[in-house]
Amino acid sequence: MKTNRPPGLSRRHFLTCTAMGTAVTFFLPRRLLAGGESPVIVIRGAAATAKITIQKLRGNVSVLQGSGGNIAVLTGRDGKVLVDAGITASRPPITDALAEISSDPVRALINTHWHFDHTDGNEWLHSIGAEITAQENTRKHLSETTRVDAWNFTFPPSPKGALPTKVFKKERELHVNGTRLALEYYGPSHTDSDISVYFGDADILHVGDTCWNGHFPFIDYNTGGSINGMIQAAEANVARVTNKAIVIPGHGPIGDKAGLIDFRDMLVTVREKVAGLKKQGKSLEETLAAKPTAEYDEKWGHYVIDGKTFASLVYQGV
Ligand SMILES: [Zn+2]
Repeated sequence: MKTNRPPGLSRRHFLTCTAMGTAVTFFLPRRLLAGGESPVIVIRGAAATAKITIQKLRGNVSVLQGSGGNIAVLTGRDGKVLVDAGITASRPPITDALAEISSDPVRALINTHWHFDHTDGNEWLHSIGAEITAQENTRKHLSETTRVDAWNFTFPPSPKGALPTKVFKKERELHVNGTRLALEYYGPSHTDSDISVYFGDADILHVGDTCWNGHFPFIDYNTGGSINGMIQAAEANVARVTNKAIVIPGHGPIGDKAGLIDFRDMLVTVREKVAGLKKQGKSLEETLAAKPTAEYDEKWGHYVIDGKTFASLVYQGV
């Protein structure tokens, strides 16, 4: 089977980059949701010493990895456009990485959704000139006190400078640096604020946290996410990308259509198993004891969310 990868990269190089993507996140503690300190505090703390890597994708689009969700960077004469903002504590290495890509100033920032690991850096990026665009629910959640039970954390309202000033409901098109950026709302999926960002000429799709490439995903039921919504978004991603598209997931290495299909299939299979057990009247504990994620744990269970945590998130929504 042919593997799609960024043009100009050999398979060996692509795999090296993929392995690097994993290494970058290696410092994150396993099973963040298993107890103890809130992952919000742990992830913000780890970001202070994070190493940021730059991966050039296609055209004038690169991705920065190592601080929160994957950050896409489009450069050009109109200035840089960023998709997602990383964690504030990583401002120094992110600043260095942006300067290494080009001297173009940062002019715009797009948030794929409201979660802190994608919006924490909003305020400082706005302070250096970025106008922030997002789906309207991103602004709503950032404006209010918002609780995420699974993270055992309550976010206070964000400062004014961190709030998106250009918001939309369904879709928005931007023309910048000679290319078309298409922003599209998924409907409720990982949260109720998720959008994709498509870079027209380069055929690159940033899917935010509707795909964690090679990792079990988090699902935020407090702000409108659900396993059924995740599957709908995963189906939409598979249907819309070409065989040559480069896919930027919210977390995990840069991927492609095959990766989106693997992720969709994993979600569907685990959902079916968990729903079947719940339908038989099994409690959450009995369902987890049946190990519904067993066939996926080796490949998908080594990042923030392990199989048990993911099965619990699925159980909640079936
Ligand atoms: Zn998220």
